[in-house]
Amino acid sequence: MPKTSRKTFLTKSLFLVTSLSFLERGLGLFTEVMAGNKPSAPIPEGLTPVSESDATAKALGFHQDANRTDFTLYPERKEPSAKNQFCKHCAQFTKLNDSWGKCNIIAAGIVSSQGWCSAWSQRT
Ligand code: SF4
Repeated sequence: MPKTSRKTFLTKSLFLVTSLSFLERGLGLFTEVMAGNKPSAPIPEGLTPVSESDATAKALGFHQDANRTDFTLYPERKEPSAKNQFCKHCAQFTKLNDSWGKCNIIAAGIVSSQGWCSAWSQRT
């Protein structure tokens, strides 16, 4: 059996720990986003969801499903600290039912409670 140097052992251990950490973070975000995607309430009568091609929505990187966020443009949304960033927790959100609400910033329709845009701010 070849003898492993201390440096090799530490390097491999560090690589393993780092890899597991990234894997855990990725799975955690995936689980959170997927768990939040289950629609539980219908679109309120007479209201229309904001189109993601709406000029304001587009400028803010809005998606009705936070899982569809462009993580290349908004890598911070992928951070573990952002895992609860959904419209339903945003200061600009007014709940209509369990799945939908109105946004003070993107007013061209209603937004999903599971949506996200770059103007998100924690509701206090
Ligand atoms: S400002 Fe808040 S409520 Fe409005 S779309 Fe962005 S994250 Fe959702």
